[in-house]
Amino acid sequence: MPLKTILEEKFKVNTYIINDASAAALGEHRRGSGRGVNHLVLFTVGTGIGGGIIADGRLYLGAVGAAGEFGHMTVDADGPRCGCGNTGCLEMLASGTAVARDAIKRIEEGEKSSLVSLSGNGIDGITAELVGEAARRGDALASEVLARAAYYLGIGMVNVVNIFNPEMVVVGGGMAGLGDLLLAPGRRMVAERAFPVSSRAVRIVTAALGNEAGVYGAAVFTREQIKGGQDEST
Ligand SMILES: [Zn+2]
Repeated sequence: MPLKTILEEKFKVNTYIINDASAAALGEHRRGSGRGVNHLVLFTVGTGIGGGIIADGRLYLGAVGAAGEFGHMTVDADGPRCGCGNTGCLEMLASGTAVARDAIKRIEEGEKSSLVSLSGNGIDGITAELVGEAARRGDALASEVLARAAYYLGIGMVNVVNIFNPEMVVVGGGMAGLGDLLLAPGRRMVAERAFPVSSRAVRIVTAALGNEAGVYGAAVFTREQIKGGQDEST
């Protein structure tokens, strides 16, 4: 869809288009957890999984602006079919949608969990947030479902750390609220599996700007496009 043209014709203003996760990476780099860092990657883990890349202090967008689709890297070649056409994409195994789906599936198959009574709406009311809450309260099924998602996110982090050698991996999106429940396994896996020189150089942290990271990033991106280049000080 030619979104830029449609918006320019409707509102009569110059319009710039940026992927939401790339915008979030830019926002975190300029105003959030990544200030002062030159090499950063960001995972947004929510209903889906997105990604953004800051390389040498600049947003890396690739040939057609599609770089950083971390959610669609293959982490299980024979895994579930993704909407993108591939199988075993990270998004299918570690997103909030995947967490809720896995919990519901296991309960439907007969496993017991406090999630059913916690939800207030039976099995249909189970969300990733609720799985997080149940895990914090010690629910075994919820803990296992989250651990599986964190494991696959960790595999994704290992791959990205090996490719980009970042100083920082920032995790944002709705699932970032789980904090160390989600990040600690990733830190462990990067320490154990990533290329040692890279794993020693990287910090894995949560996003500082929450859901506003993309808004800050989009504003920075637009200013830089208007000025005709990237401006580190904006
Ligand atoms: Zn995919």
